[in-house]
Amino acid sequence: MNTHEAIIALPKVELHIHILGTIRPRTLLHYIDEGGFETSYKSEADLAQLFQFQDFGHFISVYSEVVSYITNERQFERLAFEMLEDLSANNVRYAEISFSAPDHMRRGLEFCAMVDAIDRGIRRAHRKTGIDADVRIDLVRNYGAESAMEVLDWIRERLDSIVSVDIGGSEHEFPAKPFGPVYKEARKLGLHLVAHAGEAEGPESIWDVIRFLEVERIGHGTSAINDPKLMEHIKERGIAIESCPMSNVRTGVVASISEHPIREFYDRGLLVTVNSDDPAFFDTNISFEYTHLHDKLGFSLTDLYSITQNGIKSAFVSETKKETMLLEVEESYNGISGTS
Ligand SMILES: [Zn+2]
Repeated sequence: MNTHEAIIALPKVELHIHILGTIRPRTLLHYIDEGGFETSYKSEADLAQLFQFQDFGHFISVYSEVVSYITNERQFERLAFEMLEDLSANNVRYAEISFSAPDHMRRGLEFCAMVDAIDRGIRRAHRKTGIDADVRIDLVRNYGAESAMEVLDWIRERLDSIVSVDIGGSEHEFPAKPFGPVYKEARKLGLHLVAHAGEAEGPESIWDVIRFLEVERIGHGTSAINDPKLMEHIKERGIAIESCPMSNVRTGVVASISEHPIREFYDRGLLVTVNSDDPAFFDTNISFEYTHLHDKLGFSLTDLYSITQNGIKSAFVSETKKETMLLEVEESYNGISGTS
Protein backbone atom coordinates (compact mmCIF):
# COMPACT_ATOMS: atom_id res chain seq x y z
CA MET A 1 0.00 0.00 0.00
CA ASN A 2 1.50 3.41 -0.90
CA THR A 3 1.07 6.44 1.36
CA HIS A 4 -1.89 7.86 -0.55
CA GLU A 5 -3.71 4.55 -0.41
CA ALA A 6 -2.88 4.36 3.29
CA ILE A 7 -4.37 7.84 3.80
CA ILE A 8 -7.65 6.78 2.17
CA ALA A 9 -7.69 3.59 4.25
CA LEU A 10 -6.97 5.49 7.48
CA PRO A 11 -10.08 5.61 9.67
CA LYS A 12 -11.41 9.16 10.06
CA VAL A 13 -14.05 11.31 11.68
CA GLU A 14 -15.74 14.42 10.22
CA LEU A 15 -16.90 17.01 12.72
CA HIS A 16 -17.47 19.96 10.41
CA ILE A 17 -19.41 19.24 7.25
CA HIS A 18 -22.56 20.88 5.96
CA ILE A 19 -25.25 18.65 4.48
CA LEU A 20 -26.00 20.97 1.59
CA GLY A 21 -22.31 21.40 0.90
CA THR A 22 -22.01 17.70 0.07
CA ILE A 23 -24.70 17.62 -2.60
CA ARG A 24 -23.68 15.46 -5.56
CA PRO A 25 -23.81 17.38 -8.87
CA ARG A 26 -26.24 14.83 -10.30
CA THR A 27 -28.55 15.25 -7.31
CA LEU A 28 -28.44 19.05 -7.58
CA LEU A 29 -29.28 18.92 -11.30
CA HIS A 30 -32.15 16.58 -10.44
CA TYR A 31 -33.53 18.97 -7.79
CA ILE A 32 -33.22 21.96 -10.15
CA ASP A 33 -35.25 19.97 -12.65
CA GLU A 34 -37.73 18.68 -10.04
CA GLY A 35 -38.36 22.22 -8.81
CA GLY A 36 -39.02 23.45 -12.36
CA PHE A 37 -36.24 26.07 -12.19
CA GLU A 38 -35.03 27.71 -15.39
CA THR A 39 -31.25 27.82 -15.10
CA SER A 40 -28.24 27.64 -17.39
CA TYR A 41 -26.88 24.60 -15.48
CA LYS A 42 -27.28 21.57 -17.68
CA SER A 43 -24.24 19.50 -16.75
CA GLU A 44 -21.80 18.76 -13.96
CA ALA A 45 -19.27 20.98 -15.80
CA ASP A 46 -21.71 23.93 -15.56
CA LEU A 47 -21.93 23.38 -11.80
CA ALA A 48 -18.14 23.15 -11.51
CA GLN A 49 -18.10 26.59 -13.15
CA LEU A 50 -20.65 27.90 -10.64
CA PHE A 51 -18.42 26.69 -7.80
CA GLN A 52 -15.41 28.80 -8.81
CA PHE A 53 -15.48 31.30 -5.97
CA GLN A 54 -13.95 34.76 -6.20
CA ASP A 55 -14.00 35.35 -2.47
CA PHE A 56 -15.88 34.53 0.73
CA GLY A 57 -18.82 36.81 -0.15
CA HIS A 58 -19.22 35.16 -3.53
CA PHE A 59 -19.21 31.73 -1.89
CA ILE A 60 -22.05 32.81 0.45
CA SER A 61 -24.14 34.03 -2.50
CA VAL A 62 -23.67 30.76 -4.44
CA TYR A 63 -24.53 28.82 -1.28
CA SER A 64 -27.78 30.78 -0.98
CA GLU A 65 -28.60 29.99 -4.59
CA VAL A 66 -28.21 26.26 -3.93
CA VAL A 67 -30.45 26.61 -0.84
CA SER A 68 -33.20 27.90 -3.14
CA TYR A 69 -33.17 24.67 -5.20
CA ILE A 70 -34.22 22.58 -2.20
CA THR A 71 -37.98 22.59 -2.34
CA ASN A 72 -39.25 19.84 -0.09
CA GLU A 73 -38.37 18.19 3.18
CA ARG A 74 -38.00 14.65 1.91
CA GLN A 75 -35.04 15.71 -0.27
CA PHE A 76 -32.95 15.76 2.91
CA GLU A 77 -33.15 11.98 3.25
CA ARG A 78 -31.29 11.51 -0.02
CA LEU A 79 -28.85 14.32 0.79
CA ALA A 80 -27.95 12.82 4.17
CA PHE A 81 -27.74 9.30 2.78
CA GLU A 82 -25.50 10.22 -0.15
CA MET A 83 -23.30 12.38 2.05
CA LEU A 84 -22.68 9.53 4.47
CA GLU A 85 -22.17 7.04 1.66
CA ASP A 86 -19.42 9.32 0.27
CA LEU A 87 -17.87 9.77 3.71
CA SER A 88 -17.89 6.04 4.31
CA ALA A 89 -16.06 5.50 1.00
CA ASN A 90 -13.27 7.57 2.57
CA ASN A 91 -13.32 5.47 5.74
CA VAL A 92 -15.05 8.03 7.89
CA ARG A 93 -16.45 6.09 10.86
CA TYR A 94 -18.34 8.89 12.55
CA ALA A 95 -19.64 12.26 11.36
CA GLU A 96 -21.36 15.24 12.94
CA ILE A 97 -23.33 16.75 10.12
CA SER A 98 -24.31 20.39 10.14
CA PHE A 99 -27.76 21.42 9.06
CA SER A 100 -28.56 25.10 8.47
CA ALA A 101 -32.23 24.65 9.25
CA PRO A 102 -33.21 28.36 9.29
CA ASP A 103 -32.13 28.79 5.64
CA HIS A 104 -34.81 26.31 4.63
CA MET A 105 -37.43 27.24 7.25
CA ARG A 106 -37.46 30.75 5.79
CA ARG A 107 -38.38 29.19 2.47
CA GLY A 108 -41.37 27.44 4.03
CA LEU A 109 -39.94 24.02 4.84
CA GLU A 110 -40.89 22.46 8.13
CA PHE A 111 -38.20 21.85 10.78
CA CYS A 112 -39.33 18.51 12.20
CA ALA A 113 -40.04 17.01 8.77
CA MET A 114 -36.53 17.98 7.59
CA VAL A 115 -34.85 16.55 10.70
CA ASP A 116 -36.91 13.35 10.39
CA ALA A 117 -35.82 13.01 6.74
CA ILE A 118 -32.17 13.48 7.75
CA ASP A 119 -32.65 10.82 10.44
CA ARG A 120 -33.99 8.39 7.85
CA GLY A 121 -30.97 9.11 5.64
CA ILE A 122 -28.61 8.48 8.57
CA ARG A 123 -30.29 5.19 9.44
CA ARG A 124 -30.19 3.99 5.82
CA ALA A 125 -26.52 4.89 5.50
CA HIS A 126 -25.73 3.16 8.80
CA ARG A 127 -27.47 -0.02 7.64
CA LYS A 128 -25.57 0.03 4.36
CA THR A 129 -22.09 1.08 5.52
CA GLY A 130 -21.94 0.99 9.34
CA ILE A 131 -21.15 4.73 9.55
CA ASP A 132 -22.55 6.59 12.58
CA ALA A 133 -23.67 10.21 12.49
CA ASP A 134 -25.21 12.90 14.65
CA VAL A 135 -26.79 16.21 13.67
CA ARG A 136 -25.79 19.72 14.63
CA ILE A 137 -27.95 22.71 13.86
CA ASP A 138 -26.44 25.86 12.44
CA LEU A 139 -28.60 28.67 13.83
CA VAL A 140 -27.06 31.06 11.21
CA ARG A 141 -25.73 34.39 12.52
CA ASN A 142 -27.37 36.41 9.74
CA TYR A 143 -30.91 35.87 11.02
CA GLY A 144 -30.05 37.29 14.45
CA ALA A 145 -30.38 36.05 18.01
CA GLU A 146 -34.17 36.28 18.16
CA SER A 147 -34.54 33.90 15.21
CA ALA A 148 -31.92 31.60 16.77
CA MET A 149 -34.00 31.41 19.95
CA GLU A 150 -37.05 30.45 17.87
CA VAL A 151 -35.10 27.69 16.14
CA LEU A 152 -34.05 26.47 19.59
CA ASP A 153 -37.74 25.99 20.38
CA TRP A 154 -37.98 23.72 17.35
CA ILE A 155 -34.86 21.85 18.43
CA ARG A 156 -36.66 20.99 21.71
CA GLU A 157 -39.06 18.94 19.58
CA ARG A 158 -36.23 16.77 18.24
CA LEU A 159 -33.67 16.69 21.07
CA ASP A 160 -33.04 12.97 20.56
CA SER A 161 -31.76 13.64 17.04
CA ILE A 162 -29.57 16.69 17.65
CA VAL A 163 -26.26 16.90 19.55
CA SER A 164 -25.16 20.51 19.19
CA VAL A 165 -25.77 24.04 17.97
CA ASP A 166 -23.53 26.25 15.88
CA ILE A 167 -23.57 29.72 14.32
CA GLY A 168 -22.24 30.06 10.78
CA GLY A 169 -22.62 33.01 8.41
CA SER A 170 -21.27 36.55 8.55
CA GLU A 171 -19.01 37.08 11.57
CA HIS A 172 -18.45 40.67 10.52
CA GLU A 173 -22.06 41.81 10.45
CA PHE A 174 -23.35 39.51 13.19
CA PRO A 175 -20.91 39.23 16.10
CA ALA A 176 -21.32 36.52 18.72
CA LYS A 177 -22.27 38.46 21.85
CA PRO A 178 -26.05 38.76 21.25
CA PHE A 179 -26.22 34.96 20.88
CA GLY A 180 -25.08 34.50 24.51
CA PRO A 181 -28.59 33.84 25.93
CA VAL A 182 -29.33 31.39 23.09
CA TYR A 183 -26.23 29.35 23.88
CA LYS A 184 -27.01 29.45 27.59
CA GLU A 185 -30.44 28.02 26.87
CA ALA A 186 -28.97 25.41 24.49
CA ARG A 187 -26.59 24.27 27.23
CA LYS A 188 -29.54 23.87 29.60
CA LEU A 189 -31.12 21.57 27.02
CA GLY A 190 -28.01 19.37 27.11
CA LEU A 191 -26.77 20.46 23.70
CA HIS A 192 -23.07 20.86 22.91
CA LEU A 193 -21.80 24.23 21.72
CA VAL A 194 -19.83 25.13 18.60
CA ALA A 195 -19.41 28.31 16.56
CA HIS A 196 -17.83 29.22 13.24
CA ALA A 197 -15.29 31.93 14.11
CA GLY A 198 -12.01 33.38 12.95
CA GLU A 199 -12.67 32.35 9.37
CA ALA A 200 -13.52 35.68 7.74
CA GLU A 201 -12.70 37.81 10.81
CA GLY A 202 -9.74 38.31 13.11
CA PRO A 203 -8.90 36.74 16.49
CA GLU A 204 -11.37 38.98 18.36
CA SER A 205 -14.22 37.02 16.78
CA ILE A 206 -12.74 33.83 18.29
CA TRP A 207 -12.31 35.45 21.71
CA ASP A 208 -15.98 36.44 21.48
CA VAL A 209 -17.29 32.89 20.96
CA ILE A 210 -15.14 31.66 23.84
CA ARG A 211 -16.15 34.49 26.20
CA PHE A 212 -19.81 34.94 25.34
CA LEU A 213 -20.86 31.51 24.02
CA GLU A 214 -18.47 29.24 25.96
CA VAL A 215 -18.01 27.00 22.95
CA GLU A 216 -16.41 23.56 23.19
CA ARG A 217 -15.18 23.63 19.60
CA ILE A 218 -14.41 26.37 17.09
CA GLY A 219 -15.27 26.03 13.41
CA HIS A 220 -12.23 27.13 11.34
CA GLY A 221 -10.45 29.33 13.91
CA THR A 222 -7.95 30.22 11.19
CA SER A 223 -7.15 33.73 12.40
CA ALA A 224 -6.05 32.46 15.84
CA ILE A 225 -2.63 32.22 14.18
CA ASN A 226 -2.32 36.00 14.60
CA ASP A 227 -2.75 35.89 18.38
CA PRO A 228 -0.31 33.71 20.39
CA LYS A 229 -2.22 34.42 23.64
CA LEU A 230 -5.39 33.14 22.05
CA MET A 231 -3.71 29.96 20.81
CA GLU A 232 -2.40 29.36 24.33
CA HIS A 233 -5.87 29.96 25.78
CA ILE A 234 -7.49 27.56 23.29
CA LYS A 235 -4.92 24.94 24.19
CA GLU A 236 -5.31 25.39 27.95
CA ARG A 237 -9.08 25.19 27.76
CA GLY A 238 -8.94 22.06 25.59
CA ILE A 239 -11.13 23.70 22.97
CA ALA A 240 -10.99 21.81 19.69
CA ILE A 241 -10.33 23.51 16.36
CA GLU A 242 -12.36 22.19 13.44
CA SER A 243 -9.89 23.04 10.72
CA CYS A 244 -11.14 22.98 7.11
CA PRO A 245 -7.97 23.64 5.08
CA MET A 246 -9.18 23.40 1.46
CA SER A 247 -12.30 25.41 2.25
CA ASN A 248 -10.04 28.24 3.48
CA VAL A 249 -7.98 28.08 0.29
CA ARG A 250 -11.03 28.05 -2.00
CA THR A 251 -12.69 31.01 -0.30
CA GLY A 252 -9.42 32.94 -0.21
CA VAL A 253 -9.11 32.99 3.60
CA VAL A 254 -5.56 31.63 3.19
CA ALA A 255 -3.46 32.04 0.06
CA SER A 256 -2.40 28.41 -0.32
CA ILE A 257 -2.45 25.14 1.55
CA SER A 258 1.27 25.47 2.32
CA GLU A 259 0.46 28.64 4.28
CA HIS A 260 -2.40 27.15 6.27
CA PRO A 261 -2.00 27.68 10.03
CA ILE A 262 -3.00 24.10 10.85
CA ARG A 263 0.68 23.15 10.88
CA GLU A 264 1.42 25.63 13.66
CA PHE A 265 -1.75 24.75 15.58
CA TYR A 266 -0.71 21.12 15.50
CA ASP A 267 2.90 21.81 16.48
CA ARG A 268 1.76 23.95 19.41
CA GLY A 269 -0.28 20.99 20.68
CA LEU A 270 -3.78 22.38 20.04
CA LEU A 271 -6.60 19.86 19.80
CA VAL A 272 -6.89 20.20 16.05
CA THR A 273 -9.19 18.20 13.77
CA VAL A 274 -9.43 18.12 9.97
CA ASN A 275 -12.69 18.44 8.09
CA SER A 276 -14.00 19.06 4.59
CA ASP A 277 -16.73 21.70 5.30
CA ASP A 278 -18.50 21.83 1.90
CA PRO A 279 -16.69 19.21 -0.21
CA ALA A 280 -19.05 19.49 -3.21
CA PHE A 281 -18.44 23.23 -3.50
CA PHE A 282 -14.72 23.13 -2.77
CA ASP A 283 -13.81 20.17 -4.98
CA THR A 284 -12.40 18.27 -2.03
CA ASN A 285 -13.14 15.36 0.27
CA ILE A 286 -11.76 14.27 3.61
CA SER A 287 -9.08 12.03 2.08
CA PHE A 288 -7.86 14.93 -0.11
CA GLU A 289 -7.65 17.09 3.01
CA TYR A 290 -5.44 14.52 4.71
CA THR A 291 -3.40 14.05 1.52
CA HIS A 292 -2.74 17.78 1.18
CA LEU A 293 -1.61 17.90 4.80
CA HIS A 294 0.79 15.09 4.05
CA ASP A 295 2.06 16.43 0.72
CA LYS A 296 2.19 20.16 1.43
CA LEU A 297 2.53 20.53 5.19
CA GLY A 298 4.65 17.54 6.12
CA PHE A 299 2.11 15.61 8.19
CA SER A 300 3.25 11.98 8.52
CA LEU A 301 0.80 9.09 8.56
CA THR A 302 1.27 8.97 12.34
CA ASP A 303 0.40 12.69 12.56
CA LEU A 304 -2.72 12.06 10.48
CA TYR A 305 -3.66 9.20 12.77
CA SER A 306 -3.37 11.54 15.74
CA ILE A 307 -5.65 14.00 13.89
CA THR A 308 -8.26 11.21 13.74
CA GLN A 309 -7.72 10.55 17.45
CA ASN A 310 -8.25 14.26 18.15
CA GLY A 311 -11.51 14.06 16.21
CA ILE A 312 -12.72 11.21 18.37
CA LYS A 313 -11.62 12.91 21.60
CA SER A 314 -13.55 16.05 20.69
CA ALA A 315 -16.63 14.31 19.24
CA PHE A 316 -19.94 14.82 21.01
CA VAL A 317 -20.43 11.17 21.95
CA SER A 318 -20.29 9.32 25.26
CA GLU A 319 -16.94 8.46 26.87
CA THR A 320 -17.70 4.77 26.32
CA LYS A 321 -18.23 5.33 22.63
CA LYS A 322 -15.02 7.35 22.41
CA GLU A 323 -13.07 4.49 24.01
CA THR A 324 -14.60 1.99 21.59
CA MET A 325 -13.85 4.19 18.58
CA LEU A 326 -10.26 4.85 19.73
CA LEU A 327 -9.63 1.11 20.02
CA GLU A 328 -11.18 0.44 16.60
CA VAL A 329 -9.09 3.09 14.84
CA GLU A 330 -5.95 1.92 16.63
CA GLU A 331 -6.51 -1.56 15.28
CA SER A 332 -7.04 -0.25 11.73
CA TYR A 333 -4.05 2.08 11.97
CA ASN A 334 -1.77 -0.72 13.14
CA GLY A 335 -2.89 -2.80 10.15
CA ILE A 336 -2.28 0.09 7.73
CA SER A 337 1.04 1.29 9.13
CA GLY A 338 2.33 -2.28 8.98
CA THR A 339 1.72 -2.45 5.23
CA SER A 340 2.67 1.06 4.05
ZN1 LIG B 1 -18.58 25.43 7.90
